[in-house]
Amino acid sequence: MSKLVKPHGKDKKLKPLLLEGKELSEEKKKAEGLRKVPITSRETGDAIMMGIGAFTPLGGFMCDEDWKGVCRDMKLKDGTFWPIPVTVSATKEDANAIKDNEEVVLIDEESLDPIATMTVTKKYAIDKELECREVFRTTDTEHPGVAKVMSQKDVNLAGPIKVISESYFPEEFAGIYQRPAEARKMFEEKGWSTVAALQLRNPMHRSHEYLAKIALEILDGLYIHQLLGKLKAGDIPADVRVKCIDVLVDNYFLKDSVIQGGYPLEMRYGGPREALLHAVFRQNYGCSHLIVGRDHAGVGDYYGPFDAQKIFEEIPKDALECQPLKIDWTFYCFKCRGMASMKTCPHGKEDRLLLSGTMLRKTLSEGGEVPADFSRPEVLTILQDYYQGLEKKVDIKLHGFATGEGEKK
Ligand SMILES: [Zn+2]
Repeated sequence: MSKLVKPHGKDKKLKPLLLEGKELSEEKKKAEGLRKVPITSRETGDAIMMGIGAFTPLGGFMCDEDWKGVCRDMKLKDGTFWPIPVTVSATKEDANAIKDNEEVVLIDEESLDPIATMTVTKKYAIDKELECREVFRTTDTEHPGVAKVMSQKDVNLAGPIKVISESYFPEEFAGIYQRPAEARKMFEEKGWSTVAALQLRNPMHRSHEYLAKIALEILDGLYIHQLLGKLKAGDIPADVRVKCIDVLVDNYFLKDSVIQGGYPLEMRYGGPREALLHAVFRQNYGCSHLIVGRDHAGVGDYYGPFDAQKIFEEIPKDALECQPLKIDWTFYCFKCRGMASMKTCPHGKEDRLLLSGTMLRKTLSEGGEVPADFSRPEVLTILQDYYQGLEKKVDIKLHGFATGEGEKK
């Protein structure tokens, strides 16, 4: 019997929607004759998350009742906890042409890969502003998650899906891209029952290493779980981040205490609500805990530094098995002579090495020196190589607090 946390939902069983073997080849063949509906990279990521069972217990894209329940009360119509709408949209023309219960094929508009077939059981229009207000706490279209919702097409399509492709993820991220069942198997083989997920979308520096080690002091294992979906321009590509993690783990962690993996979701930058989504799918991956640091999954100054931690107090106690490990802002302190956090270090700003990810990227891309107390030399070497190989210098915008700079109370 597995000692890991159970998957999310009433059945407590992984529900992958990805077909295999003969079923898969037959469905792919059938898909060739179906009406094509183009979908965005976010929708593709969501479909694949459902495909691999990471979005268990979802069986397809949400209907209007699920959408409304999720926006307002973080609940599907059957009462299951779910924090962010998972929807797909089509133009009015396309939607009008689709008959009731017609099967269509969802095509990733960027790669042109057929991703899933879907039986369209419902078509509905949404109040996009309501979704943005509830989920992102803003309707400002400068917010990348809001911009995506506002640019969705007019009609949402609902219905069960059968996933027929994981797109480029298995090949491009071989060895890193993992399905929940695979991760659970690895955890079980190591005899872990408690596992902390460390969500990463930036290179791993000493502050992340410190978070990871706090988790390892109290739990069996650490799952460094990287985002492989789309990021913002100027962010470091996943293969470079993977190399940085490998070298850090090899040199500074106990063998067998860490597993590295990746998942195909696109960032929504939804701050608190997204932190909850991160916990939902980490539970499906078998993680008992999610490390939630300062401004988790945020962007710009849209969220308070601890909003993503506080929201875990605002949901029903039985909503999730995966629990947050709430950790404050971490840094190297010259007076403490070690890594510390706002919760443990009594010293002032001038005693701490404060360097945001953005500031670091700027220094590296300009060939500057980065202090070893900030990042391990092995990691810096990889990052320096990456930046030197870039043909065009990335234009890096420094924005206030979310980058770890500035003080916001
Ligand atoms: Zn200190």
